[in-house]
Amino acid sequence: MGQLFVFPKPSKGQLATCYVRKLAELNHYISANEMYGHHFNEAYDQDNISLKQLCDLTGHNSTVMQDVMLLISDQNEQNTFLYGHLHIPSYHLTKELFVCRSCLEEQSFMEGKWRIAWLPCCTKHHKALTPFNYSAEPIYEPDKQVIDTLLQIQPALERALDNDAFNKDLNIDNSIVAKVDKQLKRSLKPDKLESLNQRNKKYSRRYFPYKRSEAFLFMECLYDQIVA
Ligand SMILES: [Zn+2]
Repeated sequence: MGQLFVFPKPSKGQLATCYVRKLAELNHYISANEMYGHHFNEAYDQDNISLKQLCDLTGHNSTVMQDVMLLISDQNEQNTFLYGHLHIPSYHLTKELFVCRSCLEEQSFMEGKWRIAWLPCCTKHHKALTPFNYSAEPIYEPDKQVIDTLLQIQPALERALDNDAFNKDLNIDNSIVAKVDKQLKRSLKPDKLESLNQRNKKYSRRYFPYKRSEAFLFMECLYDQIVA
């Protein structure tokens, strides 16, 4: 146990797993798993990286870590992730890692919000995120027209996410996460809703309606609630 020798501050919005990989690499560990074994005497679980572990490893305090919005496991609430001060249920996150390859060419880190299933596009490069691992199970790819529609609303969702993530006094019922959640549940068929209520792992995107007609409806309803 003890702190690492090299521990840069994470980039704002960096994905926690990406930051842990970077820490391991900078401190000459073969893998994040080896680093965790050495420091915590436990196996590395990329779905359960806690704020406390990262503070222990780096000596940064939790406020510093929360301000950078790592999308990190919430120790106090099971199956919930922290994005800044915002609590996001795990079923809002994709199981597979999705990325914007154009962003990756410009910056050296992956973004936490790429895991959030209701932000399926890169608003900077105006395109859908793609699976990081191409051998991953094929997913439904929205077509161009759907992407264009999604891109009209996604900037508003991202702004709300960023505002809420920084708001320490946020009433959870008014958060963007609660609004999306309500809309998600409203748009699911009863059998899917049932399985969503029973599962607690990350879902991949299959619970989010990205089929063409459903996607329009889902995003239009969200648009009415959030933007209008
Ligand atoms: Zn991009």
